[in-house]
Amino acid sequence: MTKKVLHVLPTAGQHWVGDGFPARTLFGYTGPLVDLVSPFLLFDYTGPWHFEPQAPGRRPRGVGQHPHRGFETVTLVYDGGVAHADSAGHRGIIGPGDVQWMTAASGILHEEFHSEAFSARGGRFEVVQLWVNLPAAAKMSPPTYQPILATDIPVVALPDDAGQVRVIAGRLGDVQGAARTVTELNVWDVTLKPGAEVVLPAPHGHNTMACVLSGPVHIGDRGPLGNAQLAVLDRGGEGVAVRADADAKLLVLSGVPIDEPVVGYGPFVMNSWEEIQQAADDFNSGRFGALR
Ligand code: MN
Repeated sequence: MTKKVLHVLPTAGQHWVGDGFPARTLFGYTGPLVDLVSPFLLFDYTGPWHFEPQAPGRRPRGVGQHPHRGFETVTLVYDGGVAHADSAGHRGIIGPGDVQWMTAASGILHEEFHSEAFSARGGRFEVVQLWVNLPAAAKMSPPTYQPILATDIPVVALPDDAGQVRVIAGRLGDVQGAARTVTELNVWDVTLKPGAEVVLPAPHGHNTMACVLSGPVHIGDRGPLGNAQLAVLDRGGEGVAVRADADAKLLVLSGVPIDEPVVGYGPFVMNSWEEIQQAADDFNSGRFGALR
């Protein structure tokens, strides 16, 4: 039995993160689905959006320095470019097809702006940012950073010329994904051709979600789903049945749930309010370091 769709989330309202990210939060860590989406905490979908070129001499659009503790931020750029800098000394430009897997863990400060090149050029911008939870034992580990280039990501062709999957994290069949993860999870960037019918092999026991970036797409017995619609599937069953009515793009997430309390406040996600208070104290007293 393939996995059953439990919920199709309504298209979320848009809000601005800084002046660079017109985001829709498809789910977050405070919602009623928190147990169904674990180990994922949040799904921010920015765009598709058209930015005009930024006038010369003006700073690129984006969001200035802010902290994170207790989880990972995973930024997938479909179109545009994001420039990142953090207090652990990591710097990078995330371009189309690239993924930044940042393990904030015990804490970082960072900033996220449009890249200089994209700012000057303008154009289509489409970015997903996932927040991935860490188990209690890893929440206070030192921060790490994986800049994953498009060329590092293995591509698996689907049977019957149905399309392809970029295995960003986890595995698909024998193919190991590009990112190192702390717990068992999959992040698959799926492209389907019109008329494609596939079962993507998300394992039994994994919480599973499929987010449509472009469709229309049918997932399980639900559909058609279009841009920014997200299906939450059950932990039982095996595989996600997908049928594409047109050229389609979706992001499929699955993972073994982390069965621990989720207590979050803004950019901190821990296991208790005491730990949140500690995070705020550490941030306010400068213990998250500094951006240079
Ligand atoms: Mn951030």
